[in-house]
Amino acid sequence: MKRILGVIFLLLNVYVSAQHQDKVDFIHAEIFIEPIPDEKRIIGTVIYEFQILADVDAVFLDARDLQFSKVLLDGKPIGYTNNGKTISIRNEFKNKKNYELNIQYSCEPKQTVYFLGWADFIEGNEQIWTQGQGKYTSHWLPSFDDMTEKVEFDLNINANNGHEVIANGILTNKNEDKKKTTWSFDMQKPMSSYLLAFVIGDYNKQELISDSGIPITNYFYPEDSLKVEPTYRYTKEIFDFLEKKIGVAYPWQNYKQVPVRDFLYAGMENTGTTIFSDQYVIDSTAFVDKNYVNVNAHELAHQWFGNLVTEKDGEHHWLHEGFATYYAYLAEREVFGDDHFYWKLYKTAQQLQEISERGEGQSLLDPKASSLTFYEKGAWALVILRELVGNGAFKTGIKNYLKKYEFKNVTVTNFINEMEFASSLNLSDFKKNWLESTSFPINVAIEELSQESTSIAVFLKLEAEMKSAQSEDIDYLKYWNQSNSIHLKTRMLEKYRSALPFEVQDKAFQSDTVPVRRSLLSQKGLNDILPKEQLVSLLSDRSYITKEMALFNLWQYYPEDRFTYLEMTKGIIGLPNKNIGMLWLILAILTENYKESDTQNYLEELNSYTGSEYSFEVRQNAFFYLKEAITFNEESLINLILATNHHAWQFKKFARNLVDELLEDPNYYLKIQKLAQELKDDDLRYIHTKLKN
Ligand SMILES: [Zn+2]
Repeated sequence: MKRILGVIFLLLNVYVSAQHQDKVDFIHAEIFIEPIPDEKRIIGTVIYEFQILADVDAVFLDARDLQFSKVLLDGKPIGYTNNGKTISIRNEFKNKKNYELNIQYSCEPKQTVYFLGWADFIEGNEQIWTQGQGKYTSHWLPSFDDMTEKVEFDLNINANNGHEVIANGILTNKNEDKKKTTWSFDMQKPMSSYLLAFVIGDYNKQELISDSGIPITNYFYPEDSLKVEPTYRYTKEIFDFLEKKIGVAYPWQNYKQVPVRDFLYAGMENTGTTIFSDQYVIDSTAFVDKNYVNVNAHELAHQWFGNLVTEKDGEHHWLHEGFATYYAYLAEREVFGDDHFYWKLYKTAQQLQEISERGEGQSLLDPKASSLTFYEKGAWALVILRELVGNGAFKTGIKNYLKKYEFKNVTVTNFINEMEFASSLNLSDFKKNWLESTSFPINVAIEELSQESTSIAVFLKLEAEMKSAQSEDIDYLKYWNQSNSIHLKTRMLEKYRSALPFEVQDKAFQSDTVPVRRSLLSQKGLNDILPKEQLVSLLSDRSYITKEMALFNLWQYYPEDRFTYLEMTKGIIGLPNKNIGMLWLILAILTENYKESDTQNYLEELNSYTGSEYSFEVRQNAFFYLKEAITFNEESLINLILATNHHAWQFKKFARNLVDELLEDPNYYLKIQKLAQELKDDDLRYIHTKLKN
């Protein structure tokens, strides 16, 4: 999966799951489920086919808070025990015999399945989607929290007509009734339970086909047809590139990408069915500010590294995230060029060096390592490994590793053995320095970067000169002109803008690339640097971040022209989190005498963006501005209380902190106390711990 923030710890093994049963091999599962959206409930049946490998007297399945109505073994009722975590079936299971277990159940999953938009009155925003990794599929299906049990799962989903249903595998049948349709999907190969997924919602789709003939389906909300091209830009290029680069054919029948609202991460690589945050669904202006390319490539790379070969447990997590990050960087290099690739690596090398110097570096074999370690140090380890063994041996090693362990589980040692075999090298030093060690070998990384990238070499020279010379003696323009790299230029602006002579800043403004101009705006005190007319011209630059910053700076520094700037930017919404639209509203409210008859409407509009019909990124922005500048109305206070129990932890945390802050104000304390009386106990789980009675 791809985390949005880089500092969360992965706790893949916190659940004590039913131990891996090495005497039982689960082969196939036929699943029938019917979600009941109004009750956030699922009714299901699963039929498992399994083989016994040695006589045993019980089999287990993980089942979190599931209620069972019927359990049949080979068609006959059988006793079972359900402890709320697992279901166990006692029986004299005989070696080499095959059995069929039929389980009928229902559940109200507290996590793993998310129901959105069913309680409001907006038509078409209803969604149901799943997140298995870290959340456990056993909350909606008796299955296996352990990653080592791989099963061929076939899903049949019964949903209201009019919604699109998407799940792992190939759609083989749609059985339409008066009100409901059963969608049947077929998988041909086994996978771990955490990769099972489905999405129900209102979607249209774009169909592509890879050079190798794999169907690729890109889903989008019906109103987003103009965003399809920028959102999914380079999808086919990335797919074809990864298949060739990895050297092993894409392992599944088809590939689908589905955006959903309020997703927990940037994206999740469910087998053949990537689910990602709809905050990456963008128009062509936003592409330069925020795009899906990296997440697109990252989740696709997992289809081999994670889904085809799966870690035995969290100790081998490098084999998932390090590899997906590395191959995503290679794919980005293919579409954006070498310079992009090396500067990205340079940035992560610096982050890794920082934590390493603070003594907080981590080993790649530590199952509790941070995302920064697993993703970025993990990618670096592969950059260095490829350098060490050479291109040919690297590719052979990867190919052998994937073929030997396909549809199985792997350890880091399995991978290293394949690389040693392919390269005829002893990799114990590599293992020690890059995998076991907690520090980051920054010197090796920097040497690699300055050899491979001339623009990074120029920047490193500038940094060295800055250490030894007085700033005014440095010929910045010489460095600026030495390379066409936009990464060098943006980096110089971001780090040293105040030291750079006017000539360099002017060249930056005249530059024909948006990111260079955008980085001119990255620091405060802008009016000293950019003449007013230049700043005004940036209001129409092709970047929503540039527009937002230009508007804010102009409004701040030139109060006499506020009306003009507001008129110029009226109606621009910006990024999916409405960065410009929301800034505009708050500035319009704060601008004296500006459209006074509309001020109340603007205020209401801003408050309304805190509602659950908007994505949490929009809501968070609205709460932020309401807090910064003005008061909350009843509607937004209720929305805030509800947000303290939101399923996305980052938004929940934001809401809880904000509530804590408001409760310190006696006025708000009383208001919140009063509003709480109108809400259900379930919505007040957090507030109750804060209110004194
Ligand atoms: Zn990932």
